[in-house]
Amino acid sequence: MTRPPIDTTHDPARTSWVESANGHRDFPVQNLPYGVFAPPDGTARPGVAIGDAILDLRAAAAAGLLPERAASACNGDALNALMALTPEHRRALRNRLSVLLSDAAYEAALTPMLYAAADSVMQLPTRIGDYTDFYVGIHHASNVGRQFRPDNPLLPNYKYVPIGYHGRASSVRPAGEPVVRPYGQRKPPESAAPIFEPTQRLDYELELGVWIGEGNALGAPIPIGDAARHIVGLSLFNDWSARDFQAWEYQPLGPFLAKNFHSTIAPWVITAEALSPFRIAQPTRPDGDPPPLPYLWDADDQALGAFDVTLEVFLSTAAMRAKGIDAFRLSRGPATNMYWTIAQIVTHHASNGCNLNPGDLLGTGTISAPDREGFGSLLELTAGGTEPLLLPGGERRAFLADGDEIVMRAVAKADGFVPIGFGECRAVILPARCPA
Ligand code: MN
Repeated sequence: MTRPPIDTTHDPARTSWVESANGHRDFPVQNLPYGVFAPPDGTARPGVAIGDAILDLRAAAAAGLLPERAASACNGDALNALMALTPEHRRALRNRLSVLLSDAAYEAALTPMLYAAADSVMQLPTRIGDYTDFYVGIHHASNVGRQFRPDNPLLPNYKYVPIGYHGRASSVRPAGEPVVRPYGQRKPPESAAPIFEPTQRLDYELELGVWIGEGNALGAPIPIGDAARHIVGLSLFNDWSARDFQAWEYQPLGPFLAKNFHSTIAPWVITAEALSPFRIAQPTRPDGDPPPLPYLWDADDQALGAFDVTLEVFLSTAAMRAKGIDAFRLSRGPATNMYWTIAQIVTHHASNGCNLNPGDLLGTGTISAPDREGFGSLLELTAGGTEPLLLPGGERRAFLADGDEIVMRAVAKADGFVPIGFGECRAVILPARCPA
């Protein structure tokens, strides 16, 4: 079961009595993403986005409006319990929410449980136990590899192993929380020894976050045919990177302080159920590439394991915002530029018996298109900083400056269905703080 069933919750004719939902760029009634929000003068609680509003799931559960099993998972201040539900219970909750928010008979009962998203503070969706970052964007891997190894951009393992590393969960923060420019070691090419100072090559990485649902016991791998059961949904994810620190520190054990100072996750979890109509075939591998090893091969996953999602990244500088200049679009491209499917990275992660837990986060790795218009990092867009971008208003950027704000957006589209969006993944850069 790669694709959850397409059902009445996806019906393009279904509308909501929450009027802002109808025609909403991100959150029509066909989407129903989960997040954790704090309403004005209230504590953090699970909610579902509907248009410009958020429905308080804790209140709906307390009022007896949700299926029993799901209701008990909506009591806390994180989505871990909800993510631990079986796909069948998750579907029951989605079906119920779709009815509650489309049938005007429930308007009077639910209106007191609705909050304006603009007045609410979004939190991390889960208590993230573990975070792992992959490297499935083959054009990103090639572009970056080419900067270091012009003749041999991809290492020989790339087409066999979904490459990844264990990231740092504690510094994954919700969108909206500013990013403090990190200090660290870098070694200028002309000097013999490294220096310790704020990064001069601060970059973003356009990624999708993959949320783990049902976990697996230590020692019990997840077969590729079961991987979809363990994936709750996707969110936009910005894996901030200090390229100068990365270049100096990454050998021989891989990414460390260049990556773990901050990562920004978008607040809304777009569920696997909501994304069902937007699944498409995983692109065929180029001639001459090896087929995936059998434990990573599943015909259904190849047929429906990718998503018709368009990703965009915008930059606005402090000066642009002061002058009222719109954010500048840095890139736009499809999410299909992933060499491995999300099912394959989940199966690979657990293939040695490593246990994944509900609410764990996987990053796909930077998703870049083959063409410049769809490059997912400044490292690629500015050719390693050698070709700075000219921004509206006249400023130039090779890497990010203090006050710069990065906003990521995504939308899923398919003929015959209402498009659904991912909300925004937004954060601004603050000046470095001297470690004294
Ligand atoms: Mn990354």
